[in-house]
Amino acid sequence: MKSVSIVISAYNEEGNVAALYEALSKELATVQDVLFEILFVDDGSSDATLSQVQALQKKDARVKIVHLKRNFGHEIAMTAGMDYAKGDAVIFMDADLQHPPVYVPQMVQLWQEGAEIVLTKRVDNVATSRFYKFCAKSFYYVLNLLSDTKIPESMPDFRLIDRKYVDFLKGFNEQDRLFRGLLSWIMPHDKVKVINFVAPERFSGASKYNFIKSLQLAINSITQFSVRPLHLATYLGLAGAACSLGLGFYVVVERFIRHNPTPGYATIVAAVGFIGAVQLISLGIIGEYIGKIHLEVKKRPLYLADFMENDDDKKASEK
Ligand code: UDP
Ligand code: MG
Repeated sequence: MKSVSIVISAYNEEGNVAALYEALSKELATVQDVLFEILFVDDGSSDATLSQVQALQKKDARVKIVHLKRNFGHEIAMTAGMDYAKGDAVIFMDADLQHPPVYVPQMVQLWQEGAEIVLTKRVDNVATSRFYKFCAKSFYYVLNLLSDTKIPESMPDFRLIDRKYVDFLKGFNEQDRLFRGLLSWIMPHDKVKVINFVAPERFSGASKYNFIKSLQLAINSITQFSVRPLHLATYLGLAGAACSLGLGFYVVVERFIRHNPTPGYATIVAAVGFIGAVQLISLGIIGEYIGKIHLEVKKRPLYLADFMENDDDKKASEK
């Protein structure tokens, strides 16, 4: 019989995991001929998330737990879940019920009918403001302008991936990872299905992504998939040089040909400020890449984890 792993990353989601488990179990009961494992990845939560999923594991042997020793972030949490998942397909979902379990049976059915990747498209997100939506749209526009790997907008991490592609994804071992980008990189042209859905509000608690974290994710996403910003630094430098040359030319013409010397400070301050800004931006961009190289060359393990199985499973694997 085919099996499907459901990987749920949870960071301080004590108010959500039990409700998600209930809703998910109800949906899984409607699917025939498939074995499920429900793999919670506790991303170093400081609240009662771990004890709650342990309680769920006591009553349901399908529940497995990957306990990360500290908070490693959502992308690494999903990676850890993927590493431990044993299913013939893996479904990724958030713990806050913004990825409604009601779509899981449909995902599994599409997979059984031959789809190898089932994506979801968020046609609306009830929880986000217009301003946030505008920022997200602009971000994806800039990202896709700068990157060779096109990453579609509004495609959340709620998706099913067949074992074949899970194994491809496991071959990427960069520290700094963006699942959406990696998936776009390996995306086949066929056997991909998309389910549209409206994301509801979080069931409980608040989003873990504040403005700074989102900005960091945006910068990371761009630098991971493109070296175009480095070219941009060169163009900025060239543009700066052209402007200051033009300005210099203007000053010379005014002084020696038109005998009308321009008052100095304003021009000088503007020119120096402009060149300074161009240099800082360029250094910043180069710094981003060097920082990444610095982190990648160390080849540290991605995470530190304990795998917690139900007692029956443990006995079976010891035999
Ligand atoms: N998450 C995680 N580690 C983190 C931050 C978030 O595992 O460091 C999980 C979180 O528990 C949730 C999912 O990632 O299940 C998405 O996070 P969140 O709901 O805060 O993001 P949003 O939906 O607001 O984009
Ligand atoms: Mg959420």
